[in-house]
Amino acid sequence: MYQFAALLDGDGRLVEANKPALEGAGITAEETLGKPFWEAHWWQVSPETSEQCRQDCLTVIRENRFLRREVEIYGELGGRETIMIDFSLNPTRDQAGRLWIVAEGRNITEKKQAEAEVARKTEQLREAHEQLKELDRLKSEFFANVSHELRTPLTLILGPVRQQLASDDLDPNLREGLSLVERNATLLLKQVNNLLDLARLEASGMKPDYARLDLAHVVRAMTSNFELLAGDREVTYDVQTPQTLPAEADADKVQRIVLNLLSNAFKFTPTGGSIRCSLAAEGEQAVFTIEDSGPGIPDHLHEAVFDRFRQVEGGATRKVGGTGLGLSIVREFTELHGGRISLDDGDLGGARFVVRLPLRAPEGAGVADRSDAHLGIEHVRQATEELRAATPP
Ligand code: ADP
Repeated sequence: MYQFAALLDGDGRLVEANKPALEGAGITAEETLGKPFWEAHWWQVSPETSEQCRQDCLTVIRENRFLRREVEIYGELGGRETIMIDFSLNPTRDQAGRLWIVAEGRNITEKKQAEAEVARKTEQLREAHEQLKELDRLKSEFFANVSHELRTPLTLILGPVRQQLASDDLDPNLREGLSLVERNATLLLKQVNNLLDLARLEASGMKPDYARLDLAHVVRAMTSNFELLAGDREVTYDVQTPQTLPAEADADKVQRIVLNLLSNAFKFTPTGGSIRCSLAAEGEQAVFTIEDSGPGIPDHLHEAVFDRFRQVEGGATRKVGGTGLGLSIVREFTELHGGRISLDDGDLGGARFVVRLPLRAPEGAGVADRSDAHLGIEHVRQATEELRAATPP
């Protein structure tokens, strides 16, 4: 490391300088000694650098105080290259009371370059992050727009089809055809709604519509919709809830959480398997657990499976349908409530999901006395019908 050391007299003239300092700037002692320090080649990087050095010397002389700064000087390749030095001027007096100034410098070029590199990389990272955020926003906006555009025509298809299906004197062949149209349009609508929900969640920071409700009732009402299906599939279906569990939560979102988890459990549980649901209060939290005897989810996907579009068995070869949005909606809705969802291997051999929701709304959140939200029975009917139509794994 290049060390700079020089001695100046009380007028700022160079009295002595060490060899590396002189060689670094390509100057000799003869041509610089006795001359003002700031006129030497080190300081001729720019008129400002030289002037700054002059001002510094004068300050040290006038105020008799130590001064330090980082500065760029000619100090390499015989004075053709600049270096950054950590430079200081230190006044001192001899026994006769005469003022001398010790000038010292430490080459910090590499350190500065490293710092600049870190700053540059940090800036690049920041820009990349901004770009990603912007892309993410555009993607959500695109999803929202597309979903919206798809919803309208789908609703317009479903309306007349359902009207036709409601009539008693429909040709059986036509009824079968129209039922197929209805089932598939509804399925499409469900997926579009899921997409729209997620896009909205991202874009607007959706908030729960808190209301006082009985969580035990909500869970029982939702789980009972699956009893017929459990019977058909010979699935041992066990639901345990307390008599009541008063809570402040968004009924619609809680229903969606339960519905999505239940649909998955039934989707992946083979005929003759088991599904167990339970709801309990633990301290200030409600804990909803659902486990099944399906194939479970590999350990390394326990986190990733909550990412949108993520499926354990993706691509065209998968045996079970779906879009990979259900669990990400469950997690988003859980976290909106300030809750947490976790996944492990349950006792039944398949997956076990545990949802923890705070029983109370956060301080300051408005809470309605009663919830008027109810997940359209359509939604539930559709989920169970879809499952009934599918071949169990
Ligand atoms: P999908 O619409 O594909 O079901 P989800 O987000 O609900 O989307 O689930 C993502 C993936 O997680 C599923 O494709 C499946 O691979 C896996 N999964 C979810 N629930 C279960 C379960 N109960 N048992 C086994 N695998 C499951």
